Amino acid sequence: MNNQIYKTYLKEAELNHILLFNGKQSTLLKVLESDIEYFSKKPFSLLGINSSNKIEKGKKINVNTGILYLAPDTMVTSKTICPNAKRNGCSNDCLFSSGRLGMITAQKAMIRRTLYYLYHNEAFMDQLQEEITKGYKKYGESFAVRLNGTSDLNWSKLVSDNPSIQFYDYTKLRNLALKNKNKNHHYTFSGSLYSDYSKSELKKAVNDDLNIALAFNTKGTKKDTLEIPKELYGKKLVNFDATDVRFKDKKGSIGYLKRKGSKASDRIEENKINNHFFVTESNIKELINL
Ligand code: SF4
Repeated sequence: MNNQIYKTYLKEAELNHILLFNGKQSTLLKVLESDIEYFSKKPFSLLGINSSNKIEKGKKINVNTGILYLAPDTMVTSKTICPNAKRNGCSNDCLFSSGRLGMITAQKAMIRRTLYYLYHNEAFMDQLQEEITKGYKKYGESFAVRLNGTSDLNWSKLVSDNPSIQFYDYTKLRNLALKNKNKNHHYTFSGSLYSDYSKSELKKAVNDDLNIALAFNTKGTKKDTLEIPKELYGKKLVNFDATDVRFKDKKGSIGYLKRKGSKASDRIEENKINNHFFVTESNIKELINL
C-alpha cells in the first residue's frame, strides 16, 4: 500500500465533491474511505485492450484498441474533464450511466485512474506511455489507442511522441478536431442538438467536412418509432455501431450510433424533447434542415 498516493488525494482532491457512486449520492471522501487500500495503489492498468463488445468488433478487421476510461465530466472534479459536455447535453446521461448500481468495480477503476491523472499526473503519463509501448510490441501495426473513452481531453503531446501509433477519438470540441496537427490522430466530431451552441457547432462541422457521429434516440427494437434517415446532406449515413474503428472511415463520413443502455419507455418519452443530445422525433427535422 502506498500511503503517499492516498495522502495526496486527501490533501489535493475535492473531498466534498458530490457524485453518484453505486447508484447512490456520495462524496468523494466517502468513496475513498470505502476502500482505502484500493485507492492507495496506483491503477492496475490504464488501457483496457478490446475491453468492450463494441471495441472488440475491431478485431474482425485486424484492429486491437486500447481504450482509456476516466470518470467523465465532473464526476470527481468540478474542473470538468469534458469541457463541452454541459453545452452538448451529454453530461447527465453519461454521469448517470457511469455511476449506476452494480458497476462498482468499473466505477472504482474509473475514479482511481482519474484521481491518478489529476493528482499524480507525471506518474500517470509514464504509466500510460509504458502501456502504449507494450501494446505496440504485442500487436504491432494492428494496435490503436482511444484515449478519450469517457473524457474529452487534449492529448496532442503524447500523440506526437508516438508517431507510429494510430490514435482515434470522438470529440465534442470542434476546434480540437479542426486544429489537430497529428496525422496519427483521427477525430470524429460528435454532434448534438441540445442547444443553439451545439446546433451551430454541428452546422459548422458539416461545412468543415469533418467526420461526424450522430447518436439517435433508438435501439432499433419493435417499440422504437424513430427512423434513422438513410442519408443526410447528400451523404449516405454510415453505421458507426458496426465497429469502433473510426480512423478507417472516409474523410467527411457522417455516421449514426444507436442509443445504448436505456429503457424503451424512456426513449419513447424522450422522443418528445427537442433540446436533446440525441436525435429525437422532435428535433430530427431541424437536423435534416440544419
Ligand atoms: S463528452 Fe463524452 S465522456 Fe464527456 S460527458 Fe459527454 S459523452 Fe460523456
